[in-house]
Parts: sequence; structure tokens; C-alpha cells
Amino acid sequence: MLDSYRNQILRCLRCGFCFDYSWLGQYRMCPVYDVMGFESYGAKGKLIALQALLEGKIEVNESLARHIYACCDCGACTYNCMMSINIDTILKESKKYLLGKGFLPSKYKKLISNLKAYGNISGTSKPSIQTPSNTDIIYFRGCLYSTHLSSIAEIQVEILSKAGLKVGLLEGEVCCGYPALALGDENLARELAKRNLTLLERLKGKLIVFPCPGCYKMFRDEYPRLLNSYMPNMIHFTELLENLIDTGRLTLGKLETSVTFHDPCHLGRGLGIYEPPRRIIESIKGVKLIEMDRSRAWSYCCGGGSALPRAFPKLSRKIARERIREATNTGAEIVATACPSCLLSLRSATKGDIKVKDISELIQDSIEKG
Ligand code: SF4
Ligand code: SF4
Repeated sequence: MLDSYRNQILRCLRCGFCFDYSWLGQYRMCPVYDVMGFESYGAKGKLIALQALLEGKIEVNESLARHIYACCDCGACTYNCMMSINIDTILKESKKYLLGKGFLPSKYKKLISNLKAYGNISGTSKPSIQTPSNTDIIYFRGCLYSTHLSSIAEIQVEILSKAGLKVGLLEGEVCCGYPALALGDENLARELAKRNLTLLERLKGKLIVFPCPGCYKMFRDEYPRLLNSYMPNMIHFTELLENLIDTGRLTLGKLETSVTFHDPCHLGRGLGIYEPPRRIIESIKGVKLIEMDRSRAWSYCCGGGSALPRAFPKLSRKIARERIREATNTGAEIVATACPSCLLSLRSATKGDIKVKDISELIQDSIEKG
């Protein structure tokens, strides 16, 4: 219930640290505010509007819905809030409220109907697969690595196999439910979570590796809240790779290039995984790692979170262009990342100024070139 967050909303000091540090010589932290230029799009503005709604000073309408849904769920506002207000939870709760009142932006309706009909965001039937019984690890592909980026998933599985692991896919896997939750359909998210956990319960004891930080965060932080159920052992792909390199099970080759790493919001601020991808990149001989001005917890979003490109394509693209500009300014040849949404978003925004690669592509290149 949105009303149960009233006290948290009232704690807002109106200081503005959730969206703009530029008056301290730093940056506009909220990418949506950065592009739109109006405070009403930052977290402070969203909270002011929600307070007015709760106090009966405004009515729910399309303008309110547009301002609340224009958000990439990057977590920068929650991370920077001076009063530790749980902004991301309040925004999800407000989307639940808006969806219940019939104010889900129309361009998100297809995504929700795809999830209901097919169990994935793209609305396609996946070829059926079987999970071999002798696997060490279950590779949870998620929606994007099983459709648009299936070639990257193949590279990742091949790398794990090279390290001697027996990797299986999850038979019957459906979307982790994050897109539904992010758009306010908590019941659908719970239903999808239940389907995945029922499948995994039969494979108890296996380690689940997530290439997508959004899926991992959903499993780790939201599944226990949505369902009081069995939880598997989990790891992100970059954490597993770091371990395989450290223990000598995976040897990387050489690449003469320079790389900057884009911290995906859900991997960094969301899961607290900052060092493993950097250690992997630095393990490739010949690679020079150059940091962007905004990195780790200060990373700027790619514009692809919370399905923003579906309903706000221009806004999403401008955010991605800003990140590409920042990556290009480092002088690096490649911007690498470890999230399918970031990869698609940055690839769609580069105009050849910098190459955009998944971290697994760097590894594959290094192994091939030796
Ligand atoms: S989550 Fe990110 S995009 Fe959304 S309001 Fe907060 S800072 Fe802005
Ligand atoms: S940083 Fe927190 S307290 Fe300050 S304006 Fe933003 S939401 Fe309000």
C-alpha cells in the first residue's frame, strides 16, 4: 500500500542530493532529470507529487504516471538520499498503485501481455531444452540472453565449459519477474518467481549462475520477500569467472587494447559487485583498464533499465549517448560491461566512437588470440 510509505515520503528534506550534485562540482546523478531538465523527473519531484497525491491535493492522472514511470530504476537516488529514504521501494509501490488504477503507460502493456502469455518479455516460444542430470551448474539465461543476445550466452557457456565445468540450462525457465515488478505488476512477478523456484527445487544443491545482474538481484532480494520458499545457491557470472581465474582453472590470453568498464546499476549499486569484473579485465595480459569519471557506486546509468526504451525511447537513447560520451572521453578502445540491458543500450547508442563488448567477448578474444 502506497499509504504505508507516507512517513518515509514526509521525511524528505527537499535537499536534492538524490538527483543533482552538480552544484558541488560533481554531477547530475539522476539520468532522467539530467536529460529532461525538470526537477519533477528526479526522485525529490516524484516524492513531492506522491505526497500531494496522498494528501488529496492532486488526482491520479497520465502526467503523474508519465513522471513516475520515467525512471530507469538505476538506484542512484536511493544510494545518495541524505535521509536514507527507500526511494526505489516507494517508486515500485507507486507503480503498483498506478497500474491498479489503469495508468500503466500503453507501450508497457505488450510487455506485460508477453510475460503472461509466453513467460518472457519478447513474446516468443523458446525451443524446449533439457537440463542434463550431471551438471555442476545451472546457467539461468534470463530473457535477453535467451533471445537477442543468445550468441553471447553461447560464449559464456563455452568459457565455463573450458574451465572444466558441466553447465546446464534450466528446462522450462521463465522470466525472473523483474520487468513485471519494475512496472508495478507484483502478482505477475510472484507467479513467475514461483514457476522458476519450483523448477529449481527439483535441482536442489546445484549452483545457479546468473549472467544478468537484474535476474540475480531479483532472485536474491525480491524472491524471499515475494515467496517464503526454498532459495538456491547463487553467483553472478563475473564472480564465478574471477574465482576460476584465481584458482587457475581458467587461463586468459593476451590482447593489446584499452578498456573502460561500465558498472551496470544492478551489478554495482544493486548487488555490490564492483571488483570482480575489473580483476577479470586486468587478468588479460596487455589490456589497460581506464576508469570513467563516474564509476563504481557513482556510475551513470546506460538508460536501459526498467524497460525504459520501450515507453521512452528518446529519453533512453539520450542517457545512453551521455554514457557513451563519457566512455569515449577516457580514450579507451572498448567499453565493456556485464549486463544484457547495458550491452543493448550502449550498442544502440554508439556511433562507432567506441566498441561496446560484453566482458565474455573480451575473454573469448583473449583466448583466441592467445
Ligand atoms: S532510480 Fe535513477 S532514474 Fe529513477 S528517479 Fe532514481 S536516480 Fe532517477
Ligand atoms: S536526497 Fe532524499 S531527502 Fe534529499 S531531496 Fe532527495 S529524497 Fe529528499
